[in-house]
Amino acid sequence: MSITSSPGFDQHESLAFHHDPETGLRAFVAIHRKRDGRGCGGIRYRPYSSEQAAIDDVLRLSAAMTRKAVLAGVAAGGAKSCVLADPSRPKTPALLQAMGQVVHSYGGAYVCAPDVGIGTEDLAVIRSVTPHVVAVDHPAAPYTARGTFRGIEAVAEWKLGRDRLEGVRVAIQGAGNVGAQLARLLVAAGAIVTIADTDTAKADALASELGARSIDPTALLDAEADILAPCALGGVLTRASVERLRVRAVAGAANNQLADPDAGRALASRGIAFAPDFVISAGGLIAGEHELDGFDESAVHEHIDRIRTTVLHVLERAATQSITETEAAERMVAERMGTR
Ligand code: NAD
Repeated sequence: MSITSSPGFDQHESLAFHHDPETGLRAFVAIHRKRDGRGCGGIRYRPYSSEQAAIDDVLRLSAAMTRKAVLAGVAAGGAKSCVLADPSRPKTPALLQAMGQVVHSYGGAYVCAPDVGIGTEDLAVIRSVTPHVVAVDHPAAPYTARGTFRGIEAVAEWKLGRDRLEGVRVAIQGAGNVGAQLARLLVAAGAIVTIADTDTAKADALASELGARSIDPTALLDAEADILAPCALGGVLTRASVERLRVRAVAGAANNQLADPDAGRALASRGIAFAPDFVISAGGLIAGEHELDGFDESAVHEHIDRIRTTVLHVLERAATQSITETEAAERMVAERMGTR
């Protein structure tokens, strides 16, 4: 496949390959859309099976960032970097600085943040060479968890008729940065939390901290609960996995939960409500945007809390127009961008 025939290529403003032979840096940077002169999105660092796989990832993820920003009321477009990690070489500070130079070369048109494989400490190294970085002083995960919590409240109201989460059973997949914080918020609100992680010691420790239940990660999708909150990897919802679910709604932070549109239709045909991940997981992006304008914690919280209303609008629209929640959210994006 040629680069220009990669899915979504022609919807992007730019796609560039950056190579620094000295440090071994090889990275694709995609800017899907600039709004207010910039595109925001994380730097992903992981091995890829091929350059084409990295191109596909960066194009898909940067487009998703635009959707996320538009629905979150963030004045930026979407962008993303995918760094092709070489498993035989360490992720050195020199490589991260070289990535910082790449970000800097966009002159603020690309603002970067963490993603898979790039943590706050890595980002601090990147910030030593460019100011166009967010989420170092205010790590994203707690804000993402807050937004996800608000989305779960919306789903509980819409699908379960509950205006409080007390007694609502939530099964969380992934006890990482977002999943753990989400679990704390849910338990504080009186929800009954079940948690699973492939790192079972991590899930057990979190469960005992919170008085929650941890279960085998392979059993999580079969667990009986009111809401499933995927907070691990993408692609967890397939036509087959949806058949296993014993929940009334899915609402979690993991990016790209639907393996394909078929999975969304499978959820709809089983009457399982879905909060699209690009709507519900925008809390970290919102916090990052506020960093650029002077950070005020209460204003950030107020902005993130609007995710609850947005999720309700998505659910209502899907129901009234007999479309999936993802289709409803995409229509809202197109309307707000004036592209339909
Ligand atoms: P993380 O790496 O801290 O946590 C992910 C956890 O999932 C890990 O503990 C891992 O062991 C576990 N895991 C992996 N596969 C699993 C499986 N099959 N079953 C159960 N557990 C499994 O990542 P995070 O920062 O918490 O992000 C979680 C998800 O949310 C990711 O999909 C990420 O892209 C998305 N997201 C995160 C943010 C953020 O602010 N960090 C923002 C938006 C979206």
